[in-house]
Amino acid sequence: MNITVIGTGYVGLVAGCCFAESGNNVICVDKDNGKIEQLSKGHSTIYEPGLSELIERNLQAGRLTFTTDFRAAVQKSPVLFIAVGTPQIGGEPDLTAINAVATGIGEAINEFKVIVIKSTVPVGTTEKFGDIVRVKSNWSFDMISNPEFLKEGTAIDDFIKPNRIIIGIEDARSSTIVSSEIMKELYAPFTRTNSLILITDIRTAEMIKYASNTYLATKISFINELANLCEEVNADIEIVRRGMGLDARIGSSFLFPGLGFGGSCFQKDIKALISTGRQHHYQLRILEAVNQVNIDQRKRFIRKILNHFDQDIAGKRFAIWGLAFKPRTDDMREAPSVDIIESLLAADAEIIAYDPKAMSEAKQIFGSKIFLAKSAYDCLKDADALLLITEWQVFQNPNFQWMKSDMRSPVIFDGRNVFVPNQMRDLGFTYYGVGRK
Ligand code: NAD
Repeated sequence: MNITVIGTGYVGLVAGCCFAESGNNVICVDKDNGKIEQLSKGHSTIYEPGLSELIERNLQAGRLTFTTDFRAAVQKSPVLFIAVGTPQIGGEPDLTAINAVATGIGEAINEFKVIVIKSTVPVGTTEKFGDIVRVKSNWSFDMISNPEFLKEGTAIDDFIKPNRIIIGIEDARSSTIVSSEIMKELYAPFTRTNSLILITDIRTAEMIKYASNTYLATKISFINELANLCEEVNADIEIVRRGMGLDARIGSSFLFPGLGFGGSCFQKDIKALISTGRQHHYQLRILEAVNQVNIDQRKRFIRKILNHFDQDIAGKRFAIWGLAFKPRTDDMREAPSVDIIESLLAADAEIIAYDPKAMSEAKQIFGSKIFLAKSAYDCLKDADALLLITEWQVFQNPNFQWMKSDMRSPVIFDGRNVFVPNQMRDLGFTYYGVGRK
């Protein structure tokens, strides 16, 4: 099948490559010239395990092309996937890119199209997208909402082995039945049984995405709040979370206490859903609290550091392990590291940081305001404390003797509960975890 994917970011690029890998001819279009130039040469613009190989292989096989020619890309394919960004400004989702794409499609459309919205958009947006296209053109088309659930760091695996495919279609008109069959066909290589595919109406499909992301964020803020209480009552959140997770009704995933969630999705999706609620005079009280707990979790970490240093960290040198918002990605959007580093810099501390993949992102964000180390150990030289912010595998079992000999003072603030408190104390470190006894 011929497919065009509009927007080649984390979602569009992965979707485009995976559809090409399963035999489709895929055109990926983006308005960013630099990105398209790099991708056309076979260079991935993001770090995502396995992605470079997919790009290279499918470019070579001629199944994957990259372009900035929006009009041609729209005209060449009967199926258009929209994966442009939907960031937030001032708590509201910014639909500028989505609306621009709708106008562009309206101007370029040349035959019947299946238009699939993969971006996360507020309830009602897919229908409005159709209205914009209709204003510009008389060609008929079907709108489909097909939210994406991949996770950065395991995006390819998530895409090719999805736990569900949500397809929201307009109604039961004959063309929409054909369109949903096209969607099933496209996803067939990734879904052995149709039971993974849930077909519903467009608004419900849009809501499923927000419901899923905000629920996961709720689990994280819940366990963080309990971790904070564990610190007050001298209980151990690591055992509490395991004890809870053994209950199949609760499950153990997304119950890891730490510095809270980051990334481009959870915060903006919570705010977007709160905003949708507000527009309909419904206050989403749980989600307001989830967001506030998440913001406070970073501040609490800073308070721990300040308390240790008697409120004065001017001139202190902090080694930071981990900058990406989570392991196995270079994405630093809304990463806890950014807020934490900014707070420390504001108090005149010195920062030296290391991340296995996010160093060039960090350079773009902080420029010369922080030092970037060549390795995890390089980071520790003369450090007054180590802050473990992202739980990359490479940080999990380090040589503690080397660390101690390099640091000015052996103090660790472990924002992800990677290390074992008793062991750290036996090794002579002053250790702070999150919610640990
Ligand atoms: P991104 O910012 O990485 O990529 C968006 C891309 O769209 C950019 O390359 C940008 O240049 C391009 N773009 C913007 N306007 C365009 C236009 N008019 N024409 C062509 N290209 C245009 O975003 P992302 O992280 O891939 O997210 C995309 C959407 O998917 C968002 O709605 C997001 O909420 C959702 N989502 C993201 C993830 C994730 O893990 N990143 C997971 C599931 C869903």
